Amino acid sequence: MATIVIANTTVVSGDSERSVYYDSNIVVEDGLIKEIGSGGDVSPSYSGAEVIDGRDKAVFPGFINCHAHITATIDRGITDDFGFPFPFRFPENVRNLISEEELSVFAMLGAIESIRTGSTGVVEVASGIERYAKEIVGTGLRWFLAECGGDAVVGPGYKPGEPVTEFSDAQREKVIENSLELFEKWDGHDNGRITFMTGATLVETSSPRLLSQIRQLSERARCPYTIHLNQSRLEVNTALEMHGKRPSQYLADSDFLSPRLLAAHVRYPNGDEIRLLGENKVAISHQPAMAARRGVIPPIPLLRDAGCTIAMGTDNNTQDMVEAMRVGMFTERILRDDPARPQPEDVLGMATMGSATALGKEKIIGSLEVDKKADLVIVDKMRANLSPNMRVVSSFVNNGQASDIRSVMVDGKFIMRDGKILTIDEESIVREADRIGRRAWRRLVEKYPNVGFPVELAP
Ligand SMILES: [Zn+2]
Repeated sequence: MATIVIANTTVVSGDSERSVYYDSNIVVEDGLIKEIGSGGDVSPSYSGAEVIDGRDKAVFPGFINCHAHITATIDRGITDDFGFPFPFRFPENVRNLISEEELSVFAMLGAIESIRTGSTGVVEVASGIERYAKEIVGTGLRWFLAECGGDAVVGPGYKPGEPVTEFSDAQREKVIENSLELFEKWDGHDNGRITFMTGATLVETSSPRLLSQIRQLSERARCPYTIHLNQSRLEVNTALEMHGKRPSQYLADSDFLSPRLLAAHVRYPNGDEIRLLGENKVAISHQPAMAARRGVIPPIPLLRDAGCTIAMGTDNNTQDMVEAMRVGMFTERILRDDPARPQPEDVLGMATMGSATALGKEKIIGSLEVDKKADLVIVDKMRANLSPNMRVVSSFVNNGQASDIRSVMVDGKFIMRDGKILTIDEESIVREADRIGRRAWRRLVEKYPNVGFPVELAP
């Protein structure tokens, strides 16, 4: 029974009372939070424990990134600045120019960034997650492996938002079979650290039958499921063109909406869609920093008021939940035209308990409370950007930097300690990713000069 005591520290519990404990000890035993006690001295009953000096530190619940594509790290500096869908039509994906082994380098790069920026849980949304699942599971992070698919018959150059004319029964069956296989393989793996999720990738590429089968699968397997919803105006127009309905109505009529659904983005819903999503208690994964890069502020207050749970994520190219929280706070204040709403505690709540609730794990993770999993981050308060530290949550959300996060623990085990990631060879992954990514993108741009990509890449 490994016992760890973080002593004499500040504990931001993230519980429903938003309790902050000062000069407290947090005791971790067998992966769980055993005690959060006030008072300076460690209880004598923990005399065999490893005691960590928590003075000048604050312990936060780990952030839960509800929507990531970790291998999209290969597109950094390429797809960030031109909107969505990406307007330049390369006939093939850059990932065709790298090997499977090279692809997992980018998955590991995303995992490193996730850890360094304080995530303890990540929803990785992909088609073909098995190509790198084993590697990322080995990082010690809490993963929600969301394998998504579609049954549309489309070519390799298909871009989200384009209308589809044909769906394939064989492909639909393959999506469902694949999900069942991965569920059996991964769900509950390693003491419940791995959760399997199923999903449909896009509204445009999913038939009503696929949608209802995915929803049924999630009911049987009791796993959450996901989809990209309302992510572009083009998607809305295409749904109207293909089905005569807006995207959320199409999903509702395909029996796809339920409280287990984690719908990503929801940037352009109309009032009827907001009502529909709220009535069905759908959870929304809000990616504020990516939305802001795309020039959008999604109507989060309306979705919340309608009854949706709001979770937080990062989406492509970055895994930085510190940035997501701050941009989420700023953009919602702009949207409301209110400089005092939301408060830092509200956005921290979205990134922790909001995300945990959206995933159906609110009793297990998302806050620092006795008997919950010990998924936590330790922040150094004695930083020029955080001192004087009078409101610990406000200081961190307004002024914190990822580098203030010194240690990350998942399931009671440190995966980063005192600034060093313990489960990954960080330096070699960063070097490899830089080499492979620059080479692959240069090759793609040179191969298709007529695409007219207007950016000069580094040599
Ligand atoms: Zn996405």
